[in-house]
Amino acid sequence: MSATPLLEVEDLCVSFTTGRGLLGAKRVVHAVNGINLTVGQGETVGLVGESGSGKSTTGRAILRLVPIERGSVRIDGTDVASLAKRELRRARRDMQMVFQDPYSSLDPAMLVADSIGEPLEVHEGLKGAARDKRVRELLEVVRLSPDHLHRYPYEFSGGQRQRLAIARAVALRPRLIVCDEAVSALDVSTQNQIINLLEDLRTEFGIAYLFIAHDLAVVRHISHRTAVMYLGRIVEQGETERVYTRAAHPYTQALLSAIPVPNPVRARTRRRIVLEGDIPDPADLPSGCAFHTRCVYAMDVCREVVPQMTAVNGGGEVACHLQTSGPELRGASLADGGLMPERSTTGAPRGEKLGALSQDGAR
Ligand code: SF4
Repeated sequence: MSATPLLEVEDLCVSFTTGRGLLGAKRVVHAVNGINLTVGQGETVGLVGESGSGKSTTGRAILRLVPIERGSVRIDGTDVASLAKRELRRARRDMQMVFQDPYSSLDPAMLVADSIGEPLEVHEGLKGAARDKRVRELLEVVRLSPDHLHRYPYEFSGGQRQRLAIARAVALRPRLIVCDEAVSALDVSTQNQIINLLEDLRTEFGIAYLFIAHDLAVVRHISHRTAVMYLGRIVEQGETERVYTRAAHPYTQALLSAIPVPNPVRARTRRRIVLEGDIPDPADLPSGCAFHTRCVYAMDVCREVVPQMTAVNGGGEVACHLQTSGPELRGASLADGGLMPERSTTGAPRGEKLGALSQDGAR
């Protein structure tokens, strides 16, 4: 999908200082390390990666819910990273967030009318019956009964509470919603209903989404494009279909190989790439390619030089030295069972060690 850019993120960096490390040294956590990302008008872009990859911090930084260290975040050409408080408040009308926990945006002690009506009061000065009329309309928009106006959030199921959170998010007709694991806590059938609702709102109101999730199957279903994050950097991005069927980055390939396959015959024959070890400490980033400590294809150059984004066959970009140093590995398709060379480029045997490959999917 090619769409006029609505959100343009350039060289975004976010760091946190978290107490003190050894010998009293400050620990600086590099949560987001210079990412570039665009979301078009009415487009859904998925942002995936393991826990600790920096995807949620990216979403929060885009809405300026955490301080931006460097870089720009433009909405329709306006750099929200440099806006003063009052201008930022106005700009926030265009950008909303839906969290995994609906209680992040719904006060459990407030009636639905007050929770959803609050942004209408603050930004549009709507009060009393006029405000309640809009809240009723919003409840209908998210497929809830308008009669629920005078209930509390605890009186609803998890899926209904997420609908309430979405109603509050769309109250001011935003142009972009950052969904941060918005369906992760829901059962599969409720997930599908919420995803269908988000899709309906996108087509009806032209809303764009940055859809942050660790569940790759869900992201494939909803996203036009997908970006993959590892240790604060985007390592691959492109049209969702290309990323999911011809992943170019070894990390993307490993993530995709872990998606459960419903067909038991296919599940038995499919090769799974098991990532050994945890994601490294973002306060102590590995040199060169940050993935080299877990990558089965790591070469000498990977330990020394940070790979730059390079165009991929079929569209999109990848940050991996294999694109220039390992042509035989390019364009491998997970649809054909995944990529599994016999020997690594360093000569180490494939098997039990780093990034070991498993035939049966067992860890
Ligand atoms: Fe693996 Fe090297 Fe590519 Fe990083 S740059 S993903 S270590 S092959």
